[in-house]
This record gives sequence, C-alpha cells and structure tokens, in this order.
Amino acid sequence: MMKTIRCILKVICLAMLLLSGDLSAAESSAKPNIVLIVADDLGYADVGVQGAKDIPTPNLDALANSGVRCTDGYVTGPVCSPSRAGILTGRYQERFGHDVLFWNSNANAGLSPKETTFVQHLRDAGYVTGMVGKWHLGKEEYLHPMSRGFMEFFGDPGHGSSYLPEKDTGVVGRTEKRTIYEFHRNREPVDIREYLTDAYGNEAANFISKHAKAPFFLYVAFNAPHVPLQATDKYLARVSGITDAGRRTYAAMVSALDDAVGRILDSLTENKIADNTIVVFLSDNGGDSRQSHDNASNYPLSFGKGSTYEGGIRVPFFLKWPEKYPVGVYRQPIISLDLAPTFLAAADVRVEPEWKLDGVDLTPFLSGENKEPPHDILFWRYWFTGEKESFAAAVRQGPWKLVRAGLSAQSNWKLYNLDDDIGEKNDLAKSNPERVARMVERWEEWNKSLRYPLWHFAGPQDKTPFVWPEDQLQKH
Ligand code: CA
Repeated sequence: MMKTIRCILKVICLAMLLLSGDLSAAESSAKPNIVLIVADDLGYADVGVQGAKDIPTPNLDALANSGVRCTDGYVTGPVCSPSRAGILTGRYQERFGHDVLFWNSNANAGLSPKETTFVQHLRDAGYVTGMVGKWHLGKEEYLHPMSRGFMEFFGDPGHGSSYLPEKDTGVVGRTEKRTIYEFHRNREPVDIREYLTDAYGNEAANFISKHAKAPFFLYVAFNAPHVPLQATDKYLARVSGITDAGRRTYAAMVSALDDAVGRILDSLTENKIADNTIVVFLSDNGGDSRQSHDNASNYPLSFGKGSTYEGGIRVPFFLKWPEKYPVGVYRQPIISLDLAPTFLAAADVRVEPEWKLDGVDLTPFLSGENKEPPHDILFWRYWFTGEKESFAAAVRQGPWKLVRAGLSAQSNWKLYNLDDDIGEKNDLAKSNPERVARMVERWEEWNKSLRYPLWHFAGPQDKTPFVWPEDQLQKH
C-alpha cells in the first residue's frame, strides 16, 4: 500500500515539475550548441523581414521572427576579410593591421598568427568545432581553418569561389567572368559537383546530425550572394518576375541561401537540440551597391559594401536562443565583436583580460536583464589605398553617426542623427561643432591604440610578397 502511495506521489511530483518547467531547466544545464551563419554581401533590405518584397526568404524570416532581430547590428569592416577577422577574434581587426582585403602581392597574408580565434577557446573547452564555407583569412597552411581552431572543415580555403564547376558561367558585376573552384575537406582537396550553396547547406546539416550529442560550434560562412552571379533554374524560377537580370540572379542566390538556412534549422529540430542551440545569422558586410555590381538593396541605408556609411557596415543580424532570449526586435547598436564574448560566456568559458576582447556578452541585454545600451560608442577604420592618412572612418554614439569617406576630396567628417535621418542625407557637422570635436577626439584616441595597416590594396605592378613583421609571429 505504502509503495503504491509513494509511487503515486512520485508521479504527481514529476507532473508538477513538468508543469512548472523545472525539469526542462534542469536538462538545459548542458552547454548550448552554437551555429554562426554568415552571408556574404547580403543587402540590409534583402530579407523579407528586413523589407524585401521581391525575394522569398521564409526560413530567414522564421529565424528572425522566432528570435531577436537587431535593427542596428553592425560588422567591423565593410568588406569580407577584415569583417571575418573581427568576428572570429572578437577584436577590432585594425588592432592587428587587418584593415583591408589582401590581393595580388598580398595574397599570402591572412589573419595574424599572433591572434587567437574564439573557436580555439571553445575547442579547448571541449566543444567540437566545425566550419563550412568560405574562409578568406589566409591560404597558407598555417593560416588554414584547421590551424585556427577548427577540427573539421569543408569549403573554400581561399578568398571566394564560383558556384558551379563549369567554366566561365559566372558573371562578376555585369560583364567580367570568373571561375575559381577549389575546395578542401579538412586539408585535402575535394570535388564539389552540386550548386555551392546547396552543398554548404547539406554539409552543415550533416555536421549537426553527426555531432548532435556533443556541444558543438559550427561556423557556416556562405559565399552567397557574393558575385559571381550564378544560380540554378530551380532558384531562378522562384524570382522570374524580376525583370532586371542582375537583380533576378542575385535574388535567386538569396533564395538558395534561404533554403540552405532552412536545412540547418530543420537539422536542429530533427535532432531535438533546437531549444538549447544559439543560432546567429548576419552578413559580413553590406550589399554591393556599386554601379558595376548594383544588385543588392540596402534600403533605407546609404551606400553599401566598401563604405563606412550605414549601407556598408549595418547588416541583417538575428540571434536566437529559445532558452534565454525572448522573441522581439532589439534596437540598441550591437556589433559582430560581441559574438565572441557572447559565445564564450554561453559555453561557460572565462574570458581572460589578456585576450583583450573588444565586445560584450549580449545575453544579459537580449534576455532583458540589462536595459542599458551594450555600447557607449563604436568605431570603424577602413583603409583605401595606402596613401598616408586616407582613412575612411566612422563613429556611432547613441543616435549620432560621424563618418568620413576617406577619399581626399571627401575627407571631411560628416555628422548625422540616425533617429531622424537613417539614410545619412542631412549633414549636421556645421551646426554641431562641439559634438563633432568630441567624437573625433574619441576616434583619434581609439586610432592611437591601433596598428598601422600591415598591407593595403596593392596594385598589379606590386610583386613583392607580403612578409609578416616579427612581432606578429609571436603568440601573446
Ligand atoms: Ca563580403
């Protein structure tokens, strides 16, 4: 009799625990998985939830609508490689001279060997770490993803690629063609026959299934929708109503990206780990709005890729962690530098002061625990040509945005109030000289803490290979 009563009591207790949610809380003490998805040159307005009318993105919309959509999410650089260096180190990449892309004679450069990625710290803490996609942080063996914290790699160890193996099928901008098609599985060459975005989505979903029982970190760096413009009929058919050929192919590439994101999210659900997985989606820089590549839309922001105006550095930015973040829209400025401390804190890794991370753990802010803005001020520096002091730059402080285009003819600082003028049209510098002076002073102070750029855009005539300065080869 007593045994039966005890048994009944046990069942009642269990039911009460289930109802109160305590059991799921106990189960969730496991370290969360982390999936970081980066798109390449995706426009601010090229996702449905960000305002796109002509591109169907149901999966990205579902991600944003079931997580936190950050309206003022920034990256640290307006082009691929510097932005990725900032994301993976959690440090302003200008601190180690990684201001611009490497190209031509600088092609052997990459992420400074002296820097440590947060991925290495996650791996040291027992996470299984994997990467799928485009690296763009150095092609040399010692700069390869497998040398920078990743235990598994599938993708492009170089600087970007075509989407289809056939020769001369990709159009860069409106005219130039390009075929680069070289991939690795771990460190070995591998042949990819699928449409590249499909291959990356499938590979990412497989990684999740394979490691569903371990805490894992997966970095999926899609090449899409960066040029060359290449899409398959399956995706083109979805956007056949778009009359402009460039925009139509770009839209098809975004639709493929959306499908691939859907496969990743489905894999989390199928493996029953969606609730305890952090999923972050952002673009590495703004959409390409240059005249020759004019396919993306950053509306209502000004300019795009390569610019320190909002269109170059403010990007679609969604974070989802069902166990911690209430669904909503977050309007305080955040930056990709925040991802490293957010992930490390979630993984229960203590951030050491000597790592000198620049961002903050976003979890207290996104969970609603801390109502203050995460940042007092954010900075940008972008280097054009190597001409001394021809920096493009920007400062964001509250609603204020200070920006300098960097080209000598336009090198004056301009000031905008983004609350009233998100398109940065109405320069208020002349009527706010004191504010401009204070913000310039803060930027100059920050600039003094940076290294002079290690390389600049080298012309084709410059044949001298890049050599690391001695101090960048020693680990701190
Ligand atoms: Ca990019």
